[in-house]
Amino acid sequence: MINVTKTYLPNKQKYLSYIDEIFERGRVTNNGPLVRELERRLVDYLGVKNIVLVANGTIALEIAYRLLKLTGEVITTPFSFVATTSSLVSNGLKPVFADISADELTINPQNIESKVTKLTSAILPVHVFGNACNVEEIEKIATRHSLGVIYDAAHAFGVNYKNKSLLLHGRVSTLSFHATKLFHSIEGGAMIINDSQLVEEARHLINFGIDGPDSVKSLGTNAKMNEFEAAMGLCVLDDIDYIFDERKKIFKNYQKHLGALVSFQKRNTNGTQNYSYCPVVFETDNQRVLVQQALNNAGIFPRRYFNPSLDTLPYLESTNVMTNSRDISSRILALPMYPGLTKMEQKTIISVLKNTL
Ligand SMILES: *Cc1c(COP(=O)(O)O)cnc(C)c1O
Repeated sequence: MINVTKTYLPNKQKYLSYIDEIFERGRVTNNGPLVRELERRLVDYLGVKNIVLVANGTIALEIAYRLLKLTGEVITTPFSFVATTSSLVSNGLKPVFADISADELTINPQNIESKVTKLTSAILPVHVFGNACNVEEIEKIATRHSLGVIYDAAHAFGVNYKNKSLLLHGRVSTLSFHATKLFHSIEGGAMIINDSQLVEEARHLINFGIDGPDSVKSLGTNAKMNEFEAAMGLCVLDDIDYIFDERKKIFKNYQKHLGALVSFQKRNTNGTQNYSYCPVVFETDNQRVLVQQALNNAGIFPRRYFNPSLDTLPYLESTNVMTNSRDISSRILALPMYPGLTKMEQKTIISVLKNTL
């Protein structure tokens, strides 16, 4: 069976030597030395000013909302993983959708401004599949209306924009280090906080709002990463060049053989590509169904990233139909891509697509 992704597992002996270290120290969580080491290494690797590691990418978003004291409405994309929208709703915020560009698949800045109301407090775009949003346009709109910008950068690990980290955009950018992501720490996530005044507050918020032995400063939560997760992150980070190379090779191979049959995401040329996913868009929903069926019959399980379009979520009373997002959702499939996917397996996937189309 071949799935859309497979968790990257690093050298086991190396991981075990970290586990030995943890057992010797007896410290398993609460901002331990491995969490701090991973923070230092990621700041270096990503080229950012700071990073606050947390338990997962969803809680990274939720803490960002609290940091920026968001209220009322947040303008966001309907084409993302469900957590982008559900995290807003579960924090009492109302998602207001602005439709995506049909080829770049990121929020179209031209659709944002008409959604701004007196209640809007922020814009929450997603660098979907690692494709950089039009950050300049988004920042202009945010400045004009005094809105916060938080980027859900769960897919954008390692992406540069005009020769600097893409994560330097927005007041906060968030990452997910879930086992299915390009870089992972089993479960985990991070906030890159570009408003340096908010870093200390973030460190309090992830630890119940505690700011001293007998002092609770603010309404916090428990969002801490533990040492076992940080150890995995350190091991995976050692292998990150290999991971990128493997993914790039697979992506290029798909593109070479399928480029004439399906559409690939149009890239924002100011951004580098991290090959975090390989989404392909078919001409019709029916084609997508047939291909998916044929792949499944061969024991291959691509995923419909992203479906459903988030404006159709049952717990929202969304009245505006997001035409592009719904249309793309019905026609897109993410093809299997991970280090270890063999040439033979890729060949099978490619020929199933070719034969079906
Ligand atoms: C994975 C993902 C998240 C959630 O991250 P978790 O670490 O699984 O909580 C949020 N947004 C996007 C776009 C994602 O892909």
